[in-house]
Amino acid sequence: MTTIEVKTRSREELVDITEEVQKVVAQSGVKEGICYLFVPHTTAGITINETWDPSVRKDITEVLRKVAPPGANYHHTEGNADAHIKTSVVGSNAFVFVSDGRLVLGTWQGIYLAEFDGPRSRRVIIHVEPF
Ligand code: ZN
Repeated sequence: MTTIEVKTRSREELVDITEEVQKVVAQSGVKEGICYLFVPHTTAGITINETWDPSVRKDITEVLRKVAPPGANYHHTEGNADAHIKTSVVGSNAFVFVSDGRLVLGTWQGIYLAEFDGPRSRRVIIHVEPF
């Protein structure tokens, strides 16, 4: 198990961590297997989507802001209820198959750490399991 640290720079941001995850896969020495990813936070999650066109991540964060607007009337009064909701929408875990020592992702796919209550330092726990 490996933990990588991701420093986010704004309150809401999708950070492309694909290359960092690929490095962990390479260091694991696993050629054929599965890469599990888990984000141990309640206001940041993980999602896989297009990383080529930056307008995609902008659309995702904008639509999530409509789903759970910051500052709306929530029961959780810490000021980050919207961030908790957005985290549950995107989820806290992902997996990607590994083949020939590489993450098996679609042409346009990448792995995003999804920050909803930054800027902060976040952790992503990664385990690469051989088949
Ligand atoms: Zn909270």
